[in-house]
Formats: sequence, structure tokens, C-alpha cells
Amino acid sequence: MSITLEQLAARMRQGEQVPLRHTAQVALTLSIPSILQQIVVNAMEYLHIDVPVALHLDHGSFEGCYKCIEAGFSSIMFDGSHYPIAENVEKTTELVKAAHGKGLSIEAEVGSIGGEEDGVIGMGECADPKECKSIADLGVDFLAAGIGNIHGKYPANWKGLSFETLAAVQELTGELPLVLHGGTGIPADQIKKAIDLGVSKINVNTECQLAFADATRKYIEAGKDLEGKGFDPRKLLAPGAEAIKATVKEKMELFGSVGKAE
Ligand SMILES: [Zn+2]
Repeated sequence: MSITLEQLAARMRQGEQVPLRHTAQVALTLSIPSILQQIVVNAMEYLHIDVPVALHLDHGSFEGCYKCIEAGFSSIMFDGSHYPIAENVEKTTELVKAAHGKGLSIEAEVGSIGGEEDGVIGMGECADPKECKSIADLGVDFLAAGIGNIHGKYPANWKGLSFETLAAVQELTGELPLVLHGGTGIPADQIKKAIDLGVSKINVNTECQLAFADATRKYIEAGKDLEGKGFDPRKLLAPGAEAIKATVKEKMELFGSVGKAE
């Protein structure tokens, strides 16, 4: 995904807000990781952000992961789900070594996650727990396993998360933190059950984008860009940034992550 600098600042500020204080995770995919890393480091200093901020590459290619390791990211995700399992294992093994050698954490994926994100299109299949175990054993720090979850908006006939798959994966992978992608639109009760079954990181992007677009549309439809200097991008984009903050706050409360940075 890509986000604007205003959205970046909104997410970091929301993570810092007392009493919510929570590790702000900034998930970005940009073609120039080293510049991005500098922007985040400088923004933290300029905005006086003192909660931990993780700069994480989401759905990275093999080459993209290396670029972000070199650029000083704190975390990468290698999405090798579209490779045959043997190749996914081989590439993940190499990246675990490279990432850990530089102090980064690494997330891997097994079983493609449905929908489209960053050009990766998946069918929403459920991962094979044995394949999850073989990737988990490589020493990854988090594992994203497909359990019927989908990126973007869920279709009306969506069957819900497969808790059977999630439980089977957790049984074989033990304490390894599991990651739930496609967090937008999953009912709260299913989110809570997934957390109970070992999900420790939930990716929510579409909902932030929808909140941003909705608030920006309202601003323009109300003619506020035509009043005074309301056309200034800093004013034009402010309601969207506020809407993202409100969405992030809501998710932090739902996920039980409030106050974890203390
Ligand atoms: Zn994803």
C-alpha cells in the first residue's frame, strides 16, 4: 500500500496519544526504502514521537526485502506464498538469516491471502498447517497464514474466517505469533476469537483508506476548499488524517493493544 506523509504522521501521533500509547506500526511499500526510512526517523524526531515505531515492509518481494534490510527498516514481510512451498522455504531461510543478522524481525506467508494488495492477487485459500510448520521452523518471528481472509472489502457471500485452520496452524506452530491480514470488515467477534487463537498482529489498511476518502469527500462537498485558503493541502487533507486517527484508535481498543507501549 502507499500512504501520504499526512497519513504517516496521523498514525504515529495516534500511537503516541496518552492514554492509548501503543507501538505505532508504519507499513509502507515505496520504491526507495532508504529515503522512506529517513523520512520516518526525521518525522519521529520532529514530531517528538516517543513510543516505539516499527517501519515494516508489507508483502515484500525477495529483492524488495533485501532493499529494506539494507535501508534500516525494523521489520520485513516476505510474501513467498505464490512460490511452490520448497522455493518459499528456500527464500525464507535466506531472508531469515539476512534479517536477523541486521536485527530486523521477519514475517512470512503461507497460503495466499485473498483479494489484491500491492499487485499481489490471492484467492483467499486456507493454508496447509504442515506447510505453516515448515516455515515456522525456519525461525521467522511472525507467520501470516491464509485462513479465508481477504484484502480489501469482503464480498456479501464471504464465509467468515476458518477457525478450524487457525487452530490447526497454532497447534503445530506453538507460540509463534500469527498475523491476520485483511482486517477490514471482519466482524468484532471473529477478530476477538482469532486473537484468542494466537493472532498477535492484525493488518488494517482498507478501512483507514475508506475513512480518509470519506472525510476528504465531505470536506470538498461542503465547499470548504473554496473558503479562504481551504484549498491548502495541509487543510484539505487534515480531516482525512483525523479520520485515520479515529479509525486507528477504534482498532487499538478492539484489538486490546491500548497501553502496551508502557
Ligand atoms: Zn496483506
